[in-house]
Amino acid sequence: MDFNYSNRVTELLNKLNIFMVKYIYPAEKVFKQELKENRSKVPQVIEDLKLKAKEENLWNLFLPDEKLGSGLSNIEYATLCEVMGRSLIAPEIFNCNAPDTGNMELLLNYASEEQKNEWLYKLLDGKIRSAFCMTEPAVASSDATNITTSITSDGDHYIINGSKWWTTNAAHPNCELLIVMGKTNPNAPKYNQQSQILVPMKTKGVKVIRRLTLYGYDESPHGHCELSFNDVRVPKGNLILGEGKGFEIAQGRLGPGRIHHCMRLIGAAERALEAMCIRSNNRVAFGKKLSEQGSIREQIAQSRIDIEQARLLVLKTAWSIDKFGAKKSRDQIAMIKVSVPKMACNVIDRSIQAHGAAGFTDDFFLAASWANSRGLRMADGPDAVHSETIAKLELKKFEN
Ligand SMILES: Cc1cc2nc3c(=O)[nH]c(=O)nc-3n(C[C@H](O)[C@H](O)[C@H](O)COP(=O)(O)OP(=O)(O)OC[C@H]3O[C@@H](n4cnc5c(N)ncnc54)[C@H](O)[C@@H]3O)c2cc1C
Repeated sequence: MDFNYSNRVTELLNKLNIFMVKYIYPAEKVFKQELKENRSKVPQVIEDLKLKAKEENLWNLFLPDEKLGSGLSNIEYATLCEVMGRSLIAPEIFNCNAPDTGNMELLLNYASEEQKNEWLYKLLDGKIRSAFCMTEPAVASSDATNITTSITSDGDHYIINGSKWWTTNAAHPNCELLIVMGKTNPNAPKYNQQSQILVPMKTKGVKVIRRLTLYGYDESPHGHCELSFNDVRVPKGNLILGEGKGFEIAQGRLGPGRIHHCMRLIGAAERALEAMCIRSNNRVAFGKKLSEQGSIREQIAQSRIDIEQARLLVLKTAWSIDKFGAKKSRDQIAMIKVSVPKMACNVIDRSIQAHGAAGFTDDFFLAASWANSRGLRMADGPDAVHSETIAKLELKKFEN
């Protein structure tokens, strides 16, 4: 592995760091204020900064495709994505936010030309948002073979019935597309029963039941919603790739998405450690700066070690995906998915503690950042399921 940055990455990294300092961090306050005034509108500051990011060619950096995206490899993008992860509002401004990135990759890799023409280019342009509907309230959805939403053939159309929840982005005022996973044939072999289908958000029968909260945060404007599908009718041309291909597509979609979350969390942890050092250098208790207290120094050191270890594993995973593909890197993808959100939670929690009671408030980015990191121990599958993958692959090496 080569840890040197190419000239292109060095240049982008400098631009990105400047953009963060000049625009993103100051915008966090404005963003909060605008949301306070109206939670069902995209804050203007986001739209304004999206235009600026586009102008500066800091746009769609996640996409390896040279024509439509940046052409960066995963390991090149890792460093840039880490910087974006320092602020919860940054990814959308650079059109690099989940779940749109995963959905765009899905459309690029699996959709027909007509489907791409209808949806992909608008997403790449940041004009609309999209959501991915897999998880269902009634069944253990970490095992996606459990899902019950039906996609039934009816002449030239499919009819969709079911309930979904934790659909990220479904509350976003610009969310126009849902990618829905359901069963087209419950009698087919276990992994061929499911299909994925494009459902325009405004289709009759699609209903947002409620917005969910993550430790009390509604994560506006994108949100996470519970949705119901009641006799939702879409043309057959909306099916992606073909009947029974739902699992194949889901596997392809989650590889890069998972590593992006982990890259961003390294940035979130870095910012938390930075804040911890600044805070503890500037506060005095019992006659000493907090940064002179042994226990705080120990926690700072442990946080630095934790971040460096996690970053190395993320970079190795990105390198492995570039070299061998996501499928052959699935052990490493699972390892970072388990280890990085936990690491970020630990580092951010230490920083919260060092901030005293202030750390729990929204005066600092820490509480929201911790909630987001904790959520990522569940989103894209819980720790236990990824640990099971790691154990299975490890034990396989020693089978008789
Ligand atoms: C912030 C956030 C965003 C999300 N965004 C989306 C989204 O956009 N679209 C979407 O479809 N879903 C989304 N989800 C949902 C997420 O993917 C599911 O919650 C997750 O897959 C787990 O499914 P479940 O909630 O049904 O838990 P269950 O399947 O009921 O599992 C509950 C618990 O059982 C344990 N468990 C499960 N399997 C095993 C095992 N093999 N071994 C040991 N223990 C096990 C684990 O502790 C697990 O946490 C999001 C979730 C969060 C928190």
